[in-house]
Amino acid sequence: TFRALRMLKDDSGIHHEFQQLTPADLGEGDTLVRVRYSSLNYKDGLAVAGKPGVLRSYPITPGIDLAGEVISCETGEYQPGDGVVLTGWGIGERVDGGYSELARVRAEWLVPLPGGVDARWAMSVGTAGFTAMLAVLALEGGGVTPERGEVLVTGAAGGVGSTAVSLLATAGFTVAASTGRPEEEAYLRSLGASVILPREEVPALKRPLEKERWAGVVDTVGGATLAGAIASTRTHGVVAACGLAGGSDLPTTVFPFILRGVTLAGIDSVTCPAPRRRAAWERLARDLPPRKLGDVTRVRPLDDLPELAEEILAGRVRGRTVIEVSPA
Ligand code: NAP
Repeated sequence: TFRALRMLKDDSGIHHEFQQLTPADLGEGDTLVRVRYSSLNYKDGLAVAGKPGVLRSYPITPGIDLAGEVISCETGEYQPGDGVVLTGWGIGERVDGGYSELARVRAEWLVPLPGGVDARWAMSVGTAGFTAMLAVLALEGGGVTPERGEVLVTGAAGGVGSTAVSLLATAGFTVAASTGRPEEEAYLRSLGASVILPREEVPALKRPLEKERWAGVVDTVGGATLAGAIASTRTHGVVAACGLAGGSDLPTTVFPFILRGVTLAGIDSVTCPAPRRRAAWERLARDLPPRKLGDVTRVRPLDDLPELAEEILAGRVRGRTVIEVSPA
């Protein structure tokens, strides 16, 4: 048997339970993985706290990220013992996720762990860091280079935002970090931000086109913040839309697109195609080595998840939380 955190729905409502399962309880798939580590994301907080919107069926194991070793793989793509990482594709939402010592998944969802890093590192990156990497790749793919000028990261002290600051600074960009938490200034500067902007300064929606400032933008906030960032983006700049921490509306006009050639790039980490996933993880291993993540990561056992879920929903979490699932 193996241990898993399960979410159940019955007459008393939605609640969690630690259960001992057998392989027969696992869902469909061609590959069996020993899960070493998972992580805690906002979505996982909602799922474990029994809030609606993330889990699509019950009973189910939450956890949208996992990393560990392959036990067996029917397609032959992986050998027993291979280190792998899996984020998105609906695990921990539509099918069983990472809060379980064993997971049965599809080989095509897996990414081989890059050389020089381990499962714990992969989970300190997690969906948040992977999403930030995709946003940086979107900027670079659209021709944004450090010579073109400053780049902006909104929601900078959050999981996606702080990784984006670090990755952009490593790539040589001058990074402006927009945050609603002025007390995080030292943290953001330590990640490589050159300029700290109070949250209120970005939405400047008085005119459809504001003074040109940003060569590129990584936005995790949405709403008026995203609209303000688009209006201040320089000619042929790229804005990567990653999140909706401040709202899901987008009160903009077509002018930045048709008069400045600005590109709005959508980022979806869940369905990101396999070749781009592999490239992103290779780049993360190069630009965000374990020593850079150590300070912003804490490791907690599976048992702490119910309490950690409440913490992340209350906004009391900074940096990344790695969940130890199967002690080695
Ligand atoms: P997080 O750690 O909670 O960070 C969100 C940050 O947004 C906060 O730290 C805060 O930054 C800022 N913020 C929060 N409420 C705000 C408000 N009302 N107005 C303006 N700013 C606000 O979350 P995360 O994991 O980084 O995720 C960020 C967003 O990306 C979420 O919307 C999430 O759903 C989304 N996301 C998308 C993908 C994808 O595939 N597209 C993947 C992962 C996450 P400051 O404290 O610095 O102000």
